[in-house]
Amino acid sequence: MIPLPVHAVVREVGLRDGLQSLETVLPTARKCAWIAAAFAAGQREIEVGSFVPARLLPQLADTAEVLAYAKTLPGLVATVLVPNLKGAERALECGADLLLLPLSASHAHSLANLRKTPDEVVAEMARIRAARDASGKKTLIEGGVGTAFGCTLQGAVKPAEVLRLMMALLDAGADRVSLADTVGYANPRAVAELFEQAIQLAGERFCCGHFHDTRGLALANVYAALQVGVTRFDASLAGIGGCPHAPGASGNAATEDLAFMLAACGVDTGLDIPALLALRAQVVGWLQGEPTHGALWRAGLPTTAPAFA
Ligand code: ZN
Repeated sequence: MIPLPVHAVVREVGLRDGLQSLETVLPTARKCAWIAAAFAAGQREIEVGSFVPARLLPQLADTAEVLAYAKTLPGLVATVLVPNLKGAERALECGADLLLLPLSASHAHSLANLRKTPDEVVAEMARIRAARDASGKKTLIEGGVGTAFGCTLQGAVKPAEVLRLMMALLDAGADRVSLADTVGYANPRAVAELFEQAIQLAGERFCCGHFHDTRGLALANVYAALQVGVTRFDASLAGIGGCPHAPGASGNAATEDLAFMLAACGVDTGLDIPALLALRAQVVGWLQGEPTHGALWRAGLPTTAPAFA
């Protein structure tokens, strides 16, 4: 068995992937308080929002302000999602540390959500890279291949197509790439197989796994990816988020549960789990009536584990 990595990064995506699917519009001050507390609990990579038109996602309309606040925290990698070149130009103007361009490997999902084929998104990546280089900014560019394990609209998505598109994003100028199980279709065996190939192809430019807990397998999928050498995972506090095609589904792996699993397995994340649990309680209080998830908050940390305190 391959030994587990010594360190792993839990990248918080609750402020984007989580909030975008909730009805509550969290005030800017609360988003900033969330970021401050997550930073204090040891989180150093946070996706703070998305540069999409406010009429499409009013929940994320304040992304520029939230990003400006995040940039005041020393050593925090403030990430934003962008759907296209226009969003990337805003991310560059606002000085995001990293911008993430999603691409859906499912052609049906890509056309429905982005009104572009996957290869048209690859062409947009090339334009974004050119804009970044012309801007002189240091913003990193990540290409995230979604629906990597299947799609509610299209059904099966071929691994070979996922890997082709991942490499096409790198060839078009992405600094790094990641894979996402957007709809919660993955299982640990499929994750191990696909991520192992992705790392073989992309090497150190393969950077992150993004798993939704739609069917309760997010942490099992993280573990499978850890075993093949992935060391960065997206997660959302209290597992917030969801999927429009799967009512009641949770979002990403819950940050606090993932932090616990990694710590319990001896993988260092630098995260203060009691502080994350306290932040979880605060954020859940702000999201009254919204579905929240996770398991650790119910039972608390095991008493056998002084290292967690
Ligand atoms: Zn997601």
